Amino acid sequence: MKKPFVTREQIEKINETYKTPFHLYDEKGIRENARKLKAAFAWNKGFKEYFAVKATPNPFILNILKEEGCGCDCSSYTELMLSQAVGITGNNIMFSSNDTPKEDFIKARELGAIINLDDITHIDFLEEACGIPEKICLRYNPGGVFKVSTSIMDNPGDAKYGLTREQMSEAFRILMDKGVKEFGIHSFLASNTVTNEYYPMLAAILFRLAAEIKAETGANITFINLSGGVGIPYTPDKEPNDIGVIGEGVRKAFEEIMVPAGLENVSIFTELGRFMLGPYGCLVTKAIHEKHTHKEYIGVDACAVNLMRPAMYGAYHHITVLGKENEPADHVYDVVGSLCENNDKFAIDRKLPKVDIGDYLVIHDTGAHGYSMGYNYNGRLKSAELLLKEDGSVQLIRRAETPKDYFATFDFCDILKDMDC
Ligand SMILES: *Cc1c(COP(=O)(O)O)cnc(C)c1O
Repeated sequence: MKKPFVTREQIEKINETYKTPFHLYDEKGIRENARKLKAAFAWNKGFKEYFAVKATPNPFILNILKEEGCGCDCSSYTELMLSQAVGITGNNIMFSSNDTPKEDFIKARELGAIINLDDITHIDFLEEACGIPEKICLRYNPGGVFKVSTSIMDNPGDAKYGLTREQMSEAFRILMDKGVKEFGIHSFLASNTVTNEYYPMLAAILFRLAAEIKAETGANITFINLSGGVGIPYTPDKEPNDIGVIGEGVRKAFEEIMVPAGLENVSIFTELGRFMLGPYGCLVTKAIHEKHTHKEYIGVDACAVNLMRPAMYGAYHHITVLGKENEPADHVYDVVGSLCENNDKFAIDRKLPKVDIGDYLVIHDTGAHGYSMGYNYNGRLKSAELLLKEDGSVQLIRRAETPKDYFATFDFCDILKDMDC
């Protein structure tokens, strides 16, 4: 059973000040989870989590994570700006981008970020843009399919990211010639893995690669970046990952492969997004219509603009009707938003208790890749983001968009100047 981290009474109170829909984040959950991650990797002296900013690009959230010892994993100019704004700079930024524009590399270099190169051709591109730093990371793509026991987790051979095995060796040699003194290796082989085996398996692949490359080139490898991909159970039938077990699995591989290779001082880095924030955010929306046609519909005041994953991937997000947690789920609904797009459905054929107009629905696990994927189709505006603090109070951490925000990009001309907004 999935339980929301708020009650109907709390939401009714919040709704007096902040109107639905809104994203709500749970500070207590975020901090506790960040501490569990840190404890799981405490065996590694240099361990650091670089939070994947794209998952939840909010400075208030980044500040909480900063207090818990995290850095930022950025992939764009504006994500670098956000990181800078909260005082996360230098080697506390991992710049893991791809198809990177020149100005992004320049900004990353200015901030002293660790640059993670996605391609061998980016060596020359970076050198021309802003020079090669003394410390650099390379992103590896082994190709093929990535399996855990017999099931295929993901398909790296189809992924646009990273260098091949041969290119890795060549890139190390070129970069050593160009004066690089410290190296890291990164790879992201599977997304949203709900198994404790993913990180240990990935780590073993990267550890072996590091040992091989060290033997081949004598390069000074100082960190392994396991990237993101540790998932969360979106459906109530799945067991969550145990980060303690994951940390132990990585430690075992480290002792088997890294220690004998003389790589015992290497730091482990992660770039988790979903695992850090996913379960600690929800989208709160209100039922505003019911419609009985060929199917039973509940229309809510949020839409795919606020949460795109169901429309984009058919992703499951669990829904709780607040105040009806203990009522039988004896109705079947499509829960829909207002976009003129038939895929704007938060749930299809979902068993729920009877929903009445005015009921609050909590859409679970929207803390990562939720608000941040939003867009403005149909001129729909993005919602506010609120933080449920540890003391139970609520803080606005991003206001809702207004029509003025939507029209802001016409501010170079007069056409909308008389509009009252
Ligand atoms: C998206 C991304 C992440 C975070 O992925 P999660 O699935 O949210 O953990 C980390 N690193 C890179 C390079 C990414 O693109």
